[in-house]
Amino acid sequence: MTPRPDLYPNSTPDKQFAHDVVRRLVGNGYVAYFAGGCVRDAILGNDPHDFDVATNATTDQVRSVFGSNQTRAVGEAFGVVLVHGKTHGKKCQVEVATFRSDGVYSDGRRPDSVVFTSPEHDAQRRDFTINGLFYDPIEEKIIDYVGGREDLERKVLRAIGNPEARIREDKLRMLRAIRFAARFGFALDPKTQQAIARNAEQIQVVSGERTGVELIKILEHPSRYWAWEKLFETGLTQYVIPELHPRWSVASQRDEELSLLKRLPEIPVPFPVSLAAILHPWFRDASGRQAEWESMSLAIQERWKLSNIEMEAVQFALQNAEVLIQGSTLPWSQVQPVLTSKFIEPALALAEAIASLRTEALHGIDFCRSQLRLPESVWNPRPLLDGSDLIRAGLKPGPGFATLLERARQLQLDGNLRSKEEAMAWMKTMIDTSN
Ligand code: ATP
Ligand code: MG
Repeated sequence: MTPRPDLYPNSTPDKQFAHDVVRRLVGNGYVAYFAGGCVRDAILGNDPHDFDVATNATTDQVRSVFGSNQTRAVGEAFGVVLVHGKTHGKKCQVEVATFRSDGVYSDGRRPDSVVFTSPEHDAQRRDFTINGLFYDPIEEKIIDYVGGREDLERKVLRAIGNPEARIREDKLRMLRAIRFAARFGFALDPKTQQAIARNAEQIQVVSGERTGVELIKILEHPSRYWAWEKLFETGLTQYVIPELHPRWSVASQRDEELSLLKRLPEIPVPFPVSLAAILHPWFRDASGRQAEWESMSLAIQERWKLSNIEMEAVQFALQNAEVLIQGSTLPWSQVQPVLTSKFIEPALALAEAIASLRTEALHGIDFCRSQLRLPESVWNPRPLLDGSDLIRAGLKPGPGFATLLERARQLQLDGNLRSKEEAMAWMKTMIDTSN
């Protein structure tokens, strides 16, 4: 228990609110600490994005301290109450959880029951040593029952207690371990890694949706490539993305297959960009075999419960990256429609990675980006012709309609039709020739 008065140098409203919650609980005779991620993040020098409080007060006691207006039950059975309020005009909330030990885990994911216990036991039921720390904001002391501080210093991600047993209890911890190690650039403790490797197959008891949530976080983070290698090393990819796992079984081939993922910029990227990077070699090889590609992407979408929008973004990026790479040389009428898509950003990000992997110039992509910076009326002008013009010229709506409008749009974008008059004259010639 070492004093660390400078643990939270930035007194954010959230921090102050959490501090006030602890003070109120302590003022009412209870023990209360900051717990878990917010202690870990502060020791690492990062601003926590939320604060959790652990206490010996029961949920009823927490609710009577703060009153029903300021509290909401979110997990009564697990002893969790949400306390909300305002600090400096900002809405804040803190999860207040009663110190607990978990009972038996019969479903491989959540304990069947919990018992309310001491801070020490509460630390021990947590997953990793770096997530098992408490901080007493009043005494300004870190309380460490699990060796979390040392592991933070040594940059090691280690299960609390027996890794094998902890992973067998809750299989999701396998993905959490890799996600946290990757996020902080920590090594996986060898025993923890071995336990993951031995139990990898068991990841299948976790719902696809929950697995998907973890994988999305992993893929969004700059450490995505390291994490993907760990997923492979521990045998998890075989179960979380069985469609592609066989392509990665030979090391040299895996390097090649994942080279695009490795090439993505070391910044957070939207998850569809990373997934597109992983799928790219497959997409390229399946070219012309649309049905095969569709059934594979559908299988991944269903397993991870991805939304249609996410999957459309992936598809769009894969289908249009090449056009963007050639953006400055292809006819503008071919490039411009791609820029109007709501998925243009993922497509540009993927295109950049592909071009840089091939050590190709980025002219095309830069050109597209510079167009997008102009007012939209410049790069996406209103069409010179629309359906009502065709009707007025005596055409009946039908299949030829769309083709004619599309052709007019191409000519407009490529600078061959410059005014409404030119467009109308062109249309009349078209109608006359077809008659
Ligand atoms: P993040 O910044 O990603 O939210 P976090 O540490 O707050 O990190 P959470 O998933 O929000 O992570 O969980 C809060 C805390 O609850 C963890 O720090 C850990 O102590 C505990 N915890 C969460 N999930 C598990 C689990 N599956 N098994 C054991 N303990 C867990
Ligand atoms: Mg959290």
